[in-house]
Amino acid sequence: MVAFLAAGLGAQIVELAPEHIHNGETLKIAVHGAARKARLAGQTVELFPQEDGSRFGLMPIPVLKKPGIYYLELLNENGTMVDSRPIRVENAHYPKQNIVISRKIASLKPSPGEQETVGAFRKAVSPVRYWREPFEPPVPGCLTSLFGVRRLHNGRPTGDFHAGVDQRGAAGTPIHPIAAGVVKIVQKWNLRGGTVAVDHGQGVESIYLHMESFAAKEGDHVTTSDVLGYIGSTGRSTGPHVHWSLYVNGVPDNPGQWMKLEACPAAPKRPRRKAK
Ligand SMILES: [Zn+2]
Repeated sequence: MVAFLAAGLGAQIVELAPEHIHNGETLKIAVHGAARKARLAGQTVELFPQEDGSRFGLMPIPVLKKPGIYYLELLNENGTMVDSRPIRVENAHYPKQNIVISRKIASLKPSPGEQETVGAFRKAVSPVRYWREPFEPPVPGCLTSLFGVRRLHNGRPTGDFHAGVDQRGAAGTPIHPIAAGVVKIVQKWNLRGGTVAVDHGQGVESIYLHMESFAAKEGDHVTTSDVLGYIGSTGRSTGPHVHWSLYVNGVPDNPGQWMKLEACPAAPKRPRRKAK
């Protein structure tokens, strides 16, 4: 009896992955024991029951989180801490990138409800898990812009970072979801252009922008073999590509942690000409 109580309060079997974690990545937490939630630096996430009797949850480390030591706290159903582990967040060293955009594109404003709808989508966490690893890239093309880069527009810092990746592709290329899930948003918006968002369950979500047209509708259950829509250049975009983001419990996450993505070869530098 005493042993049982002690086990209920303490003894957790905790598995954390990956071993080395960087800002912009996700800590995967598997637990056998009383833990029901996990907390790190003010963010609390659910640990969902899995088929094998364990609990599993995803702790996102935001891009702008300072590298250093943080404590991962495991909480039982009363919110009492039953375990705590130090986590060293290493610096991902995301580079800077300047984007040249026209004044017309720079001055685009979001559609009424655009920001609110995406905000509510990111906030929602649904209990049914549709996803499993590995995730798959939505289109075959290489990356023209990586996750996490500090963005400058026409040389001016925006104070923001790239919260997803840009993948090259010809207009009309089919876009697939990165994992199975339920379609939550199908909208044509000013900033994001043709947008589809998918909830993969238990804190994993994805969103795909700038689509030319759609092949899915809200409420559809989709798998990676389904098509959500087609590559376009709608909204704040300078050419056909798909910008897509992966959210983990509402926080933009580096998709490179979940699948293999290749950066496009850098464009060859134009030889400098002498001024005439
Ligand atoms: Zn982008």
